[in-house]
Amino acid sequence: MNVLKRLVLILCLGVLFSSHANAWVQTQSPKGKSLHWRGNNIGFWINPEFPPGLGAGDVFYAIRASFSTWTIPTCTCIRFKDNGTTTSRVLGYDVNNPDANINIILFQQTSWGHDSRAVAITSNVFNEDTGEVVAFDMELNSVNFTFSIDGKPRNNVRTMDIRNVVTHEVGHVIGLDHSPIRQSTMYVSGQPGELDKRDLHSDDIEGLCALYPTNGCTEEGGGTTTPPTDKGCGCSQSTDGTGDMSSLVWLSLFILLFFGIRRLHP
Ligand SMILES: [Zn+2]
Repeated sequence: MNVLKRLVLILCLGVLFSSHANAWVQTQSPKGKSLHWRGNNIGFWINPEFPPGLGAGDVFYAIRASFSTWTIPTCTCIRFKDNGTTTSRVLGYDVNNPDANINIILFQQTSWGHDSRAVAITSNVFNEDTGEVVAFDMELNSVNFTFSIDGKPRNNVRTMDIRNVVTHEVGHVIGLDHSPIRQSTMYVSGQPGELDKRDLHSDDIEGLCALYPTNGCTEEGGGTTTPPTDKGCGCSQSTDGTGDMSSLVWLSLFILLFFGIRRLHP
């Protein structure tokens, strides 16, 4: 009775050269609807199969802190529900069994099915007619990147700080697109070792609170075991191709992937 429609849009460079002067951006569905969660309490599960060399407790903390960062501004009602761990690696969304869907954060360590320059990808499932998000999954690319909890090089390999990356991805989870503000968490590019995106810029906060203002809260539909989320974005950071310590300039691209649901019987 439902048809799952997957749409893949690559929106990176268009954002990079956007003429916007100084404004956050809300992700749009292919039909021009702004992506948003119906509720304000979005659940997530962490798959604890972490890359070697990282302390599990440190990684859990980094991921959870990345979500919590978006709840700090007093102008927003957004909340996240930490549902603990899952052994599942099943991504996507089963429209025939919606209660079985969970929002997973996991590290891909053996194969990466996306652009190799993408350090992470967040996929949102949403109703393309309304923009309402019903689910998300977040994949971190441990195939092409080395992650850390401090952004410092390890064994002469530059690392991607988990909080720096995941905080940006959480912005996509809630419906934000890339911002033209270079200092913002939602800026389109980043660098190995970068920590700046751990903390929200005023531009990020303005977007957050416009989408989920304190007086716009409703617990309904957002904070259950099957959180309604509908946004998908994948972000990547890439090198100039060398990937070694002598390469000082890294070009970062963030690739947005949208997985839309078309409901025949809305
Ligand atoms: Zn991004």
